[in-house]
Order: sequence, then structure tokens, then C-alpha cells
Amino acid sequence: MIRLTRDRSKIPAAFRDQELIRKNQSLLDAKAAGIALNAAYWKGRDHWKKAKPRLKAESFGKCAYCDSPAGAVTHSDVEHFRPKSIYWWLAYCFDNYLYACQICNQSYKSDWFPVADSRITDPPHTTPAAALHPDPASPASAALFAAAVAAERPGLVNPYFDDPDHYLAWEADEELHEVHAVPAVGPDKAATAFRFQSVETYYGLNREELVRRRFEVYQIVAVFRQFREDPAVPLAKRQLAEQQMRAMAAPEQAYAGMVRYFLTQWGVPL
Ligand SMILES: [Zn+2]
Repeated sequence: MIRLTRDRSKIPAAFRDQELIRKNQSLLDAKAAGIALNAAYWKGRDHWKKAKPRLKAESFGKCAYCDSPAGAVTHSDVEHFRPKSIYWWLAYCFDNYLYACQICNQSYKSDWFPVADSRITDPPHTTPAAALHPDPASPASAALFAAAVAAERPGLVNPYFDDPDHYLAWEADEELHEVHAVPAVGPDKAATAFRFQSVETYYGLNREELVRRRFEVYQIVAVFRQFREDPAVPLAKRQLAEQQMRAMAAPEQAYAGMVRYFLTQWGVPL
């Protein structure tokens, strides 16, 4: 997982202004009519698919959760961070979306959303449609959205709002040929442990195929490290090795979050 940022000037029209108000009004009308916004209601509704190209660009074509290139080996989804089955009023909120691979989204995260204490409450169905959630196109949206959900302490990490490096560290097992996600060492051990456990469980970050794929990348970066640190290797080649290590930590590269972690551990400037 890597930190992601959102270009507020590029929010698709389907999630702004009149179109957003129209979609939000449909939710409020359904609530007012006593319709349950459950799986049956959402079946066949897929307005959020219009967000996919933009979300894919924002996360460099990789799953925002597992950092794997998505779309090539597995299908990808527009993922609702806060599930629409619980947080119905965020169903059309662009700030609630992420680009995720179908394995993370459907086999692991699904409709789970653990919180440390109580959940934020539903807005009343009399709320104006324009006020259901902060406008994602506003430059202040990230702060407003964070304030709107501040009463809740989620277990899961959202790379648009949280720095994954605060919760995740990585451990290579040279014998098993696996790289595992482990809890980062932070000032608040209990909070880090809760978030790490949520992430590991509901994003499946230590599933077999991932720990092995990460090791394949780790092995390459570890070979470059040997070159970089070998005094018998000519300086130009050692510098080239360092350059290659940095290139593997670029945000568009698979498992860049893990690579960045090891480079920092090894004292390679990013
Ligand atoms: Zn994934």
C-alpha cells in the first residue's frame, strides 16, 4: 500500500454538481419511502463504475490495498471504503472510492468495516441532497470529509487519508521466499495493532500469492543492494544499482510501498 493523493480538479462530472445532487436525492427519497438500501437495492446499480478510469489513474493502475498491478491478472473494482450497505449516504461520494483488485475487494474486504468503538450515525432523510457529504471537487474536501467521519475510529487504512507507513512494515523470509506485512513500530502500539490486524484480515495482505509475489520483487532489489554495497564493484555500477533500486520504489511500480520500506532500512536515499 502506498499513500495516494487526489487531484480535486479532475473529479468526474458524474460525481459533482447537479448529477451528484440527483443521485444523492435518489438515496434520500428511497430512505423517506422506507426502502431498505440493502444488497437487493444495489443490485443492478453501478453509477460508481464511471469513477473507475480516474481512480485507476490516481493509484497508478494498482490495487490501492495490495499494491499489485490490477486489471492484468485479476479484474478490478470501484471499491467503497465505507460499505454502501452500512454507509448508504456515501454510495455516490467520490471520497469514499478506491481502485481495488477483485481479490482484495470481493474475497477479503467485502462489506466489512471494523471500528474501534461506535459508528457514525445516518444523516436524517430530510438532509438536503447537496449536504449529504462534502463536495469532492472542493479543495477543502479532504479536510471536510475527514471532519465528517472524525467521530469514528476505523480499523482499516485508507491510503487517501492515512499514511500506510504508520501501520505497515515488511519482513522478508529468505528460506520460505516470502515477504510478510508486519505491524510498524509506532508510538501508540495498541492503535497500530488494531489497524494492522484489520488491514491484514480484511485486505488479506498476507495471503499466499501476495507474500510470494512480493518476495520476487524483494529478491531483485536485494541483488541491486549487493552490487551497491560491494566495494569490489566499480563506482559507476554501484551508482547504477542504486538508481535501479530507486526506480523500483517509484509509485507506479508493483509493491512500491514494500520497496520503499526496505530502501529506508538499508539507508538508500529515496
Ligand atoms: Zn488488491
